Amino acid sequence: MKILATDLDRTLLPNGRWKADSQAIDLFNELTLQHHVLVVYVTGRNLNLTEQAIRKFGIRYPDVLCGDVGTSIRRYENGVWKLDEGWITHVEHASPRWNVKAIKDAVAGIDGIREQESEHLNRFKQSYYVVHEKRDEVLRAVDERIKGRFDEVIVYSFDSQDGKGLLDFLPASATKQTALEYVAEEFGSRKEDVVFCGDSGNDIFPLTAGFSGVLVKNADEQLVENVRKSLKENPDLRVYFAKGGFRGLSGYYTSGVIEGAYHYGVFSDTP
Ligand SMILES: [Mg+2]
Repeated sequence: MKILATDLDRTLLPNGRWKADSQAIDLFNELTLQHHVLVVYVTGRNLNLTEQAIRKFGIRYPDVLCGDVGTSIRRYENGVWKLDEGWITHVEHASPRWNVKAIKDAVAGIDGIREQESEHLNRFKQSYYVVHEKRDEVLRAVDERIKGRFDEVIVYSFDSQDGKGLLDFLPASATKQTALEYVAEEFGSRKEDVVFCGDSGNDIFPLTAGFSGVLVKNADEQLVENVRKSLKENPDLRVYFAKGGFRGLSGYYTSGVIEGAYHYGVFSDTP
């Protein structure tokens, strides 16, 4: 089964500073239905914010939502969200030393961080806002107190929209990458039959994990650079950089997702 997986903000959603093609979202909705593609959203958004995006931008419901940067997985079936309990069990087994409370205690008092609102936290996601100018000191202090003790990954990203640094502690087994690997396995898809589209930060992991990757044209320079570096080390990686110009589309956001899906044959004009 072909899977089309995509990040939301500034990948599928046209909420950056580039101009979007007005018809792209309708086209995406149509093409994914026409081709019976399994659609997966892989996003930092929680369920509530994902539904807001669906309403605001008119994107279709996905078949599967890997939300909260991969720490929750839900299926959307017959108009109802169903939490994947198997994923929770899987993560608990795979990251036995994960301990939210201990992480919270360990980072308490680090200057320059502030815990995010409770809707952005869950049993597998402990997140903070970081004063971006203090990120080097913060990350050094975090490494000293946390690194390697809790089967964790420490992900720092910068939200260029509002100038906030974001720090996530996640179980190493529950990230955008591992969540998508789990979904691929559930649906019996080979990794190369999974197309993943992204634009920034933590998209680097699924983009360099052996899936068929797509960078939308508006991808962050830093992500482009990191992906090119990975390509040098591992030339077998499949990554496509959306260029624009395809069918009169710009290559930004949704248009880049569509261009990438055609590139890998997820969409095609010959039935
Ligand atoms: Mg994004």
